[in-house]
Amino acid sequence: MKIEKELISGKAKSVYLTDDPERLVLRFRNDTSAFDGEKIEQLDRKGMVNNKTNAFVMQQLEKAGIETHFESLLSDSDALVKRMEMFPIECVVRNISAGSICKRLGIEEGMTLEPATFEFFLKNDELHDPMINEYHIRSFGWAEDSDIAAMKELTFKVNDVLKKLFLDAGMLLVDYKLEFGRYQNRVILGDEFTADGCRLWDVETRKKLDKDRFRQGLGGVVEAYEEVAGRLGVKLD
Ligand code: C5P
Repeated sequence: MKIEKELISGKAKSVYLTDDPERLVLRFRNDTSAFDGEKIEQLDRKGMVNNKTNAFVMQQLEKAGIETHFESLLSDSDALVKRMEMFPIECVVRNISAGSICKRLGIEEGMTLEPATFEFFLKNDELHDPMINEYHIRSFGWAEDSDIAAMKELTFKVNDVLKKLFLDAGMLLVDYKLEFGRYQNRVILGDEFTADGCRLWDVETRKKLDKDRFRQGLGGVVEAYEEVAGRLGVKLD
């Protein structure tokens, strides 16, 4: 398999075409960004830690019967994935209140949300990823009814698997974002899962172990990501 030209340059990740039209390469970079790219830093080792943590999480999801785009780990920074037709939509599940929901609804951080809540956002940096609902998705043709149902079902299935996986490793899965797409007429998960795209707190102390350390200038960002990997039993070196 040969890596060819860059298809997408994201804020923390690049996507490359390969000589196989059905496969792409994801390259996890050390770039770390927040607030729609307003704050950007290079954090040593982050790309490698995220690539390996993601590979581990994807394998756990596959074992639990959730189909993902992940195929294999290629190197410290690269992973091979299926090429999909993505929906321009972000799915967020929240088990505990934090982040934008606190601002939007004026609630305090740390409330257990029972049942867990679900939100759709439009993937559009210029518009700052506005929150949307199912009617918007249908009216603007961003996805079909059956895709909407599949995205919700899969996002909650992931919640069942990962809440337990993280809790068994002493962490609370506070919230996370996932993106989906079509692959051979099936809706499957087409996103990575790392501490950049979720919130994880220590179960005892509620210490933040995710990108909020970067957003809030708490320091020890990569150390926290390495701690998450270590607790899950991901081999880094
Ligand atoms: O900012 P907000 O509280 O809505 O984010 C909810 C969850 O989704 C957080 O874990 C955040 O890291 C993740 N997220 C993301 N990419 C975005 C928006 C949110 O990974 N563009």
